[in-house]
Parts: sequence; structure tokens; C-alpha cells
Amino acid sequence: MRVPWGVLIPVGVGVGVLAAMSTDGGMGGGGGYTSAIQDRRTFAKLTDKAKPHTRKRTDPPYGLVLHQMGFDRGNKPSKYDKVTAHFKILQDGTLIRSWDDDVRLPAAGGLNSGSWSVEFAGNFPSQPGSTDPKRFYRPLPFEYRNKKGELKKHKGFGMDQLTDAQVQSGRFLIDHLIGRGLTHIFGHVQGGPQRQNDPGPDIWYRIGEWGVRERGLDFGGPGFAVSGGKPLPDKWRTWGDSAGGLDVPAVA
Ligand SMILES: [Zn+2]
Repeated sequence: MRVPWGVLIPVGVGVGVLAAMSTDGGMGGGGGYTSAIQDRRTFAKLTDKAKPHTRKRTDPPYGLVLHQMGFDRGNKPSKYDKVTAHFKILQDGTLIRSWDDDVRLPAAGGLNSGSWSVEFAGNFPSQPGSTDPKRFYRPLPFEYRNKKGELKKHKGFGMDQLTDAQVQSGRFLIDHLIGRGLTHIFGHVQGGPQRQNDPGPDIWYRIGEWGVRERGLDFGGPGFAVSGGKPLPDKWRTWGDSAGGLDVPAVA
């Protein structure tokens, strides 16, 4: 069932507003998407790489796969229309919906068929809250060769931290999707061999692990991975326990 969206709220909505919204937009029955989520479905575009692997699905999704983008383009939603994911959460907490539930996107290898995907804007470290450049993927400027073999400069992917606003919006999205049938939560690392630090320890502990412990979501179990992916590292699941628990700030 499709229920029309409610009144859209402007860019950069405060997370306090998000937290106060009801998760079904007040329409009841769990059928509607909340107006705290910005609808950009008419603007979303597939990359040439994603096009051949995107299709409609008949079974409704039951899992949410967490991703880090590995870059940040600021807090303007239009900058993320070509990022392949159902949802995006920007550094200021803005939560965007880009695709219908019945669109299967090529976002997470073997986990695609039954899942929604959410991408968090930022290049996040492989150690919780680290500011050591060695803990980030290509954070500094570098040179590379393009397809024509020309030498190009890249400014680097930078060094970001998960913000409290992103955590709040991520948890909000979980609660919202539970109302639409969500029972499982995964990290991209579990779905394929390419992304070893995706979503990384901060996103997993503060959002994924929160969903497991506080909402009873299933992550497949300690050894679970498909399509050449790796199980969630134990340290992603537990690092914050000694640092104050699930409400610990991202930067230790
Ligand atoms: Zn990913």
C-alpha cells in the first residue's frame, strides 16, 4: 500500500523535531512514511554502474544495511541524489528517502534482495573516534590516473566523525522501519568482500548495536556473512561498553 507523504519539512531540520515526530506521520496503520524524512524520490538517479543491477522486488524488505559513504559533500540533500541507497543521513542529521521500498538496489552484495540501505555521509575511521589519518581511507590529497591515463589530483576523502545528530536520525529510522516490517539489521561488511570498514565501529555500535540491544533486531548471529563478506568484528559490537555504553559520544 502506498500512502501519500505528509508535509515536507525544510532542509536541515533539527534533530529535536525528528525525535518528537510520530513514526507513522500520524496516518495510522504503519502505512505512511513520516514527514520527518525528506522525500527526494523524484530526484534520485542511478549511476551507470548501478543501473543494470537495479530492479523491482516482490517480497517486502525486512533488513536494514548500514553503510558509510566514505566522503562528505556537505548538508545539501541534492548533492547525494546519485548515492545508491534507499536512505541517506547527512552530518547535520538530515534524513533523506531516495527510493521506494520495492526497488532492489545494488548496495550491499548478497544482502540486497531483502534490505533497505542507509548511507551515512562522512569518511569514518576504522578505530572508534580516531583522528589518526592512518585509520581513514585516503584522507589526504593524492594523485591518480583517470581512464584516459591522465594524471589527476584528488583532494582526498577527508576525516569525519559520526555526529550525535546522525546517531539520533539513524535510531529514528530504525524505529520508523520497525513499523514497516523491519526485523534485521546488518553492516555492509557482512554482504561482500570489498568494504572492510563499512560501516565501521562508530556507526555499528551507536546505531546497529543499539538496534540489536534496544529493539531486538537480528544481525544474523556472530558468524553471519554472505557473498564473501566478513562477520561483524566483535570490537565493533562492544567497544563502547567500557566507555559508557550506548550513549557514549562518538569521539572517545
Ligand atoms: Zn557500503
